[in-house]
Amino acid sequence: MDFTPRDAFASPRFGQVATFMRLPQSRDLAAMDTAIVGIPFDGGTSYRPGTRFGPREIRNQSSLLRPYNPAVKALPFATRRVADYGDVDVAPVSIEKTYTLIEAEIARILAADVLPILVGGDHSISLPILREMAKRHGPVALIHFDAHCDTWDQYFGGKYFHGTPFRRAVEEGLIDPRRTIHIGIRGSLYEESDFDFQKEHGMEVIPIGDVKERGIGYVAERLQRLKGGKAYVSFDIDAVDPAFAPGTGTPEVGGLTSFEAVSLVRLLAGFHTVGFDLVEVSPLYDGPGQITALLAANLLYEFLCTLPKRGERKEKRRKKTRAS
Ligand code: MN
Ligand code: MN
Repeated sequence: MDFTPRDAFASPRFGQVATFMRLPQSRDLAAMDTAIVGIPFDGGTSYRPGTRFGPREIRNQSSLLRPYNPAVKALPFATRRVADYGDVDVAPVSIEKTYTLIEAEIARILAADVLPILVGGDHSISLPILREMAKRHGPVALIHFDAHCDTWDQYFGGKYFHGTPFRRAVEEGLIDPRRTIHIGIRGSLYEESDFDFQKEHGMEVIPIGDVKERGIGYVAERLQRLKGGKAYVSFDIDAVDPAFAPGTGTPEVGGLTSFEAVSLVRLLAGFHTVGFDLVEVSPLYDGPGQITALLAANLLYEFLCTLPKRGERKEKRRKKTRAS
């Protein structure tokens, strides 16, 4: 199979069934090394619904993306075999059942040594993904872009919803809280003690003011300490200002611009990222031109452009083993 986007000079971008970036749809895990996987679940939402329609609309808006990224001189499809894996068949009426289904699918993907790039869905989907990441890699570092830390304890008695995944992930030993950085945090809280959990567990919080006043370079510096180890990246689109990304569940004003979001994702080049999710795009609340889904598609593409060439990391590992 040819794991490159369909030729835009032979087939117009607006035609055919929309896959991510017009890549082939495939479940042949032995043939690919990177899988774009939709998780259309919004049963963990606390305010505006609709992220179940995120994966479809992001695929739709990804049709314009061209393969070469001149800003970072990357042509990801020249060296990696990327496929649109389709969606996880979630259970819309049950978060627990959905978690089981997500875990099974992620387990299959990781067992095949394929890098998963997940498209939500609301942020509750990160927990089952992290469960499988930890099974394979042990507790991972977490680079988390969001307006919210998502470390609340419960909501209406429920332990699982889109405000709790990273508290559960710490409790279950899936992420290393001391190697966790939350970036873009802002917005009103219930009380001052809402930040106690982060402090108690040594999680680093970079509020939006620090991103704006100290700049992208400051975030780059803060991230350096996570280099080398395995890191999972979670990007909640509400890290971006609702002026640029209105189509989301719990919007907070005063956030990142589209350019800042793109620049932050570009910082991930050189990190050992074992997975990436982009969550909380709700097309129902999107602005004209589907600007939120369009930005989400671009951020996914930018992440693809940060990945090492296929085999590069494996090759390094092999060399190391030989040397030792
Ligand atoms: Mn959020
Ligand atoms: Mn979130």
